[in-house]
Amino acid sequence: MFVSDILSQKGGLVFSVTPDTTAAEVARQLSVKRIGSVLVLNDAGTVVGIASERDLVRALATHGVKAMELEVRQIMTREVVSCHPDDSIDEVMQTMTNGRFRHLPVIHHNELVGLISIGDVVKARLEETQHETEALKAYIVAG
Ligand code: AMP
Repeated sequence: MFVSDILSQKGGLVFSVTPDTTAAEVARQLSVKRIGSVLVLNDAGTVVGIASERDLVRALATHGVKAMELEVRQIMTREVVSCHPDDSIDEVMQTMTNGRFRHLPVIHHNELVGLISIGDVVKARLEETQHETEALKAYIVAG
């Protein structure tokens, strides 16, 4: 199974904000949209960062409630790691585990085509395991 299989199921919708969006607005969007992170795009549509629940918690721990007035550019991660539609599920699991993050934008021909989360990856891996088990059972029964 590949990243493209996940995207064909969940679609390529990516929630994003601009760098001047406040942390309070990011928190509101994460809550309303029931997501764990947003990509930060500049006016040209280029990915300039990613902000997740963790960044909000870190900002709150550092600045207290004033953190909510900060712009997302002040709390986001700037070095965004991405993946490709042809990457395998195992490869992206490895990337997320090594990087200790749960979200990966998908880039194809320099264009943002989606975003996958650890939840999507685990779901795909479970489906894969289930298919393998069923194929093995069928093989045993047939033999
Ligand atoms: P997460 O586990 O995705 O909530 O993110 C944990 C930390 O990693 C936060 O500081 C995020 O800004 C950062 N992060 C999340 N996704 C990525 C990514 N694809 N590339 C780089 N940093 C990321």
